[in-house]
Amino acid sequence: MTYQGVLTKMKTELAENVQYYLIFEEDFLNMNQVLDKKLAINFLNYECTACKKKKKVFANGVCYNCFMELPQNGEWVIRPELSKAHLDTEDRDLEFEKAVQLQPHVVYLANSSNVKVGVTRKSEIPTRWIDQGAHEAIEIVEVPNRYLAGITEVALKEHLSDKTNWRSMLTNDLKDLDLVAIREEMRQYLPAEVADYYLANSRELEIKFPVLSYPAKCKTLNLAKMPFYEGVLKGIKGQYLIFEDGMVFNVRKHEGFNVSLSLS
Ligand SMILES: [Zn+2]
Repeated sequence: MTYQGVLTKMKTELAENVQYYLIFEEDFLNMNQVLDKKLAINFLNYECTACKKKKKVFANGVCYNCFMELPQNGEWVIRPELSKAHLDTEDRDLEFEKAVQLQPHVVYLANSSNVKVGVTRKSEIPTRWIDQGAHEAIEIVEVPNRYLAGITEVALKEHLSDKTNWRSMLTNDLKDLDLVAIREEMRQYLPAEVADYYLANSRELEIKFPVLSYPAKCKTLNLAKMPFYEGVLKGIKGQYLIFEDGMVFNVRKHEGFNVSLSLS
């Protein structure tokens, strides 16, 4: 069976084991059903997910021009504390920025290899946690806009990491932690403006990923350097496909890559 299309990050569904879907223009593929099967990936050409031109992907699945121009690639996306829509100040497109920034945001703790602090729109929970490969996560505060979430993250980063160790995540080198206790410990470091938004009763969510076996060591597949790969799929975690030989493939990093996929 062969599928062909431009990769975008896998859609997910929280279930007993997370369900993963690759969505193509006319087709979709439930990746859980590919487990234990041989999958061949063949890189055909680039296609910007925004302008659809066959131009090299620069970042986030889009070409250089789109990355520099589109409002969804503004710096406030990865640095929420730079958000300015609440001041009525435009970065690239004020209407867009208002729609995204002026809605409930959550600051959370997620444990995927170590505890990290992160920010997301409330509507993105638990998707964001699944995409990070977090096996447990908890909300700390829920605030009315992205700016307040951003300054909270900056304050908590003084005490916690904001990075995931993806090697530990993919080799399952991790431990369960008491996130309620860590949330309580972090309360004292919240900025004064967000103290009233503290979630004193939030509970830990545990997430189970469809992984049959973890590799002892892993290496990353980069289709730009190696346009063909074939292996037996052993698991899916975060946005990674994990293969029997220890190869791991970050689907999200390959947004905008037009590929054909063959199952056997
Ligand atoms: Zn483009």
